[in-house]
Amino acid sequence: MSTPITKLVLDFDGTCTRVEQAAAAYLDEYRAGLADHLAVTEEAWAAALDRVRSRSPKIGWMVAGTPSAPAAADPYILAYEAAHHLLRRTGTHGDIPVSVHAKAYAACPAPWREDARSIFETVIGRGIEIWFVSNSGTAYIESRLQEVFQPGDPLRASVKVQSDAGKFKVCELPWEDDPLLDAAARDLFGRIPPAFPSAELGRPIYLRRGSYFHALSRVFGGNFDALRATLFCGDIWELDLAMPRLLGARVHLLDRAPPFDTCDYERRALAAEGEWAKGGVELTSLLEWL
Ligand SMILES: [Mg+2]
Repeated sequence: MSTPITKLVLDFDGTCTRVEQAAAAYLDEYRAGLADHLAVTEEAWAAALDRVRSRSPKIGWMVAGTPSAPAAADPYILAYEAAHHLLRRTGTHGDIPVSVHAKAYAACPAPWREDARSIFETVIGRGIEIWFVSNSGTAYIESRLQEVFQPGDPLRASVKVQSDAGKFKVCELPWEDDPLLDAAARDLFGRIPPAFPSAELGRPIYLRRGSYFHALSRVFGGNFDALRATLFCGDIWELDLAMPRLLGARVHLLDRAPPFDTCDYERRALAAEGEWAKGGVELTSLLEWL
């Protein structure tokens, strides 16, 4: 526990951005983008969103076939689940192309948290490297970082992006040889249980997130001993923090703002981790670890 922190692994949306401020515009754009695939009136869309909200977190984000996060944890997950609910309700065949999300996401960027820049500066000033590990694309996050760091800012070199992590994929590691996934790394992953049961949720919390683990292998250069010196910060317990905590890392859960509020089971999971886990409302709460 006394190992000094040398890396901070950050989630992007909701953790460093205010997704609630972009939510209304994003959800409208998403609905507009559905038109070629599924006719949805404003009323039907609002009703579908409400229905998903009312069933979350018992129902989860099923984008990769297995529940991976509360279905109403952020606007992107909510839109996906509402659209798929409508596909099923209307018996519509086929799927909704990822481009519907991509277009709405690009059109309605969530603003950075106001304290992001100052927190990055403090963290980097303590000699800690920042890594973004997110489901969003690496190129997208790098472009958003230009809003925080002016060209030539020396701090930018201490912020790395290892994105397209697919944290929502509950899956095994790729079987192909990969120098970053040596026998020790595969053994570590192999010891992760498939899931924690949760009577409260009525579904398990799935843990074997092979795609996320693979992204972390790139952050650590294949040396997972680095987990002990790494702090993870995210806004969704299952998606961002449950697996890293199980692997021995310290974790920090940021509160989600209404209407995407952090769930009680997430707070209880955090509290159960004792000194290995903290939480807060703003990014500044991270500084408690330093
Ligand atoms: Mg997030």
